[in-house]
Amino acid sequence: MSLDINKLLRENIRTLKPYSSARDEFSGEAVAFLDANENPYNSPWNRYPDPRQVKLKTRVGEIKNIPVQNIFLGNGSDEPIDLLFRAFCEPGKDNIVSINPTYGMYRVAADTNNVTVNLVPLSVDFELDADALLAAVTPDTKIIFLCSPNNPSGNALKNSDMLRIIEKFGGLVVIDEAYIDFCPEKSFLPVLGQFPNLVILQTFSKAWGMAGLRLGMAFAKEQIIEVLSRIKYPYNLSILTQQKGIELLADEQQKLDWVTIILKEREKMIEKLKKYPFVVKVYPTDANFVLVKTHDPRGIYQYLVEEKIIVRDRSSISFCEGCLRISIGSPEENAILIEALDGLI
Ligand code: PMP
Repeated sequence: MSLDINKLLRENIRTLKPYSSARDEFSGEAVAFLDANENPYNSPWNRYPDPRQVKLKTRVGEIKNIPVQNIFLGNGSDEPIDLLFRAFCEPGKDNIVSINPTYGMYRVAADTNNVTVNLVPLSVDFELDADALLAAVTPDTKIIFLCSPNNPSGNALKNSDMLRIIEKFGGLVVIDEAYIDFCPEKSFLPVLGQFPNLVILQTFSKAWGMAGLRLGMAFAKEQIIEVLSRIKYPYNLSILTQQKGIELLADEQQKLDWVTIILKEREKMIEKLKKYPFVVKVYPTDANFVLVKTHDPRGIYQYLVEEKIIVRDRSSISFCEGCLRISIGSPEENAILIEALDGLI
């Protein structure tokens, strides 16, 4: 399948001339940097960071086995989500299609950009109906957002269903893989090159333990990455983020060890939760959290807050009536939660 990015892009973005920063124009070693109106003192913080993030991107490319030209790095994966709207969706005209329930930022980014959202409900077990999703597409649909494993339900969507959507839809398909490290289903990253309309989002906020750093990734064909890079803030990743990212990426084993502990804790947590009389259902999860349907979500939430334990009350979200979403914490944190819940029986 071929894809004409220019046909999908907003007209003003197609013709946009990006800001060219001083550091874009010269990135080698100089004896005096007098080009960017920086203060000469307070090294190294006085200098603007690398707008192209070459060192960090190279490292990410090695770890993910993806060429640098197919990688966009942002201030969390929330940044590429917003940029995709700004690049491809004409305000007041275009729409996106997504699933319900799912990660709330797709709607916030859509509303911010005055773009309509067509939501297709998942089944009662949070399964995707690929045909219903494709039927919701209109001539003005520019992007389909899928989230797998899905937040807040926790389950992975079927790769075969997502594949069908990628193959049938003529616009962009974004697959948000924020929780992929906790999931037995395979990432789409190794087959990225086969699908010119595929955008994969990943993040360092979950398995890598770097939510505070704000570092997210988008992977796509070069022309899409080039567009996102053209409209981002020139210095969207600080010196600190880039340095710390490189440092933390040196130890991938640490991430794998954390995931092993979290998965073991997840199984323990599920077994415990299932036994409580106030729990109606513990939904199957492929992520580092679990969605739990209870008889009294608000009462349990309030009780836990009084115990200084914070979970996420999702009971007001459509299709999540009665549900709390519980992140899998450290063994100590999980034991504190279980002890508190024991106090309710
Ligand atoms: N996608 C999903 C599905 C998420 O749940 C989250 C955060 N909770 C994000 C993206 C955003 O992650 P980041 O911290 O990289 O902005």
